[in-house]
Amino acid sequence: MNTATLTRDDINWRLRGQCLYEDPDVMHPVDSDKLGEKYAKKVCAGCPVAQQCLQESVDLRDWHGIRAGLTGNERRNLAEGNAQRCIRCRDLFVPRVDTQVRCRPCARVRDGNRKAKS
Ligand code: SF4
Ligand SMILES: [Zn+2]
Repeated sequence: MNTATLTRDDINWRLRGQCLYEDPDVMHPVDSDKLGEKYAKKVCAGCPVAQQCLQESVDLRDWHGIRAGLTGNERRNLAEGNAQRCIRCRDLFVPRVDTQVRCRPCARVRDGNRKAKS
């Protein structure tokens, strides 16, 4: 979508975004700011227009900031078909092998449980 051709609908959904009253910097934490990233993702959680927000980000290939609860890298991986949802926590992750179904933190929990049982 070209921003020069925004329709009324395109603008209206933005007015329903949960981040509307946040400082824009909040939604653009620097890469090293994991707490800021977590906070921005919380702002997106339950946002009624997350789907439109994600779609626009993908359409415009806009990988800046947190949108729809995802970092730019997470959105790019999703758009490029490289990401999938962890079967345990439902977070997006990029599998390193085809058979990987859990994100790294969840795989570590599973491995820890297996060791504890043996
Ligand atoms: S999904 Fe997040 S970034 Fe997008 S409009 Fe909603 S709160 Fe804002
Ligand atoms: Zn997980």
